[in-house]
Amino acid sequence: MSRIAYVNGRYVPIATPAVAIEDRGYQFADGVYEVIRVVEGTIGALDRHLDRLERSLSELSIRPPMSRAALAAVIRETLRRNRLHRAIVYIQISRGIAPRNHLPPASGRASLVVTVRRAPFPDRRQHDEGCRVISLPDERWKRCDIKSIGLLPNLLARQKAREAGAREAWMLDDDGRITEGTSSNAYIIDRDGRLVTRPLGPRILGGITRSLLLELARKAGIEVIERPFTLEEARTAREAFLTSTTSLVLPVVQIDDCTIANGMPGTLTRRLQEAFETNQGLDVLYERQKP
Ligand code: PMP
Repeated sequence: MSRIAYVNGRYVPIATPAVAIEDRGYQFADGVYEVIRVVEGTIGALDRHLDRLERSLSELSIRPPMSRAALAAVIRETLRRNRLHRAIVYIQISRGIAPRNHLPPASGRASLVVTVRRAPFPDRRQHDEGCRVISLPDERWKRCDIKSIGLLPNLLARQKAREAGAREAWMLDDDGRITEGTSSNAYIIDRDGRLVTRPLGPRILGGITRSLLLELARKAGIEVIERPFTLEEARTAREAFLTSTTSLVLPVVQIDDCTIANGMPGTLTRRLQEAFETNQGLDVLYERQKP
């Protein structure tokens, strides 16, 4: 069955050319997006994702193309047409179609594309054993809090990570402090067992996984400190991990050539990983996956 996408009011096979050449998303990356996980038919943290989407749109002065309720209905219909219950949903909204000109048009209708794909089980081995990251200068713009579709610096950093055999790149501000990963938020557990992560602000994307995880950590009695931390602190941390909708909670066991602690995922990371997976209904999936 060919995958079906929603494109500006129509459901079309994903390979159908359906986006206009003069769409400002295509010409200028003038748009925003969201990525949402669906677990057994439940759209995870939908309200938080739609809040972030509305905020991103409003920061770019793009009028939402439809109401939240209508967008939720489109997501459900796209899932139904693709017969998916366990999926990743991509929502992409651009400023719409206009004759090519740097100046954004004063009015116009935003374009909306919704695609879905089967969510693979997160790589269990990597989740159990942890992953490697490299550090790189953060070459992005100064509004990383907007979930913009302009992702070139993220892609280039990710490419360098892969060339180095690493899963992710942690990016550094001019003061040597880690901002975040190319598509994930970054955390350490310090020597006193406190969870440290960079505070929200223009240098990072406010991850939905981050917001859920910090709530779970506080509930579990883990002290959370939102402050920037340096690469040096991360290298000498007791534990480290990253989070995102697609990667969930992923232990980090090596940064560049430096092994963190004993090179195994730490105990607090494990606890948080389990708490998060249970909270999101993913533990049930893993049970089913067992032979
Ligand atoms: N930072 C960046 C730059 C990202 O692209 C993502 C993934 N969308 C995240 C953090 C994590 O956000 P979330 O938990 O909402 O997936």
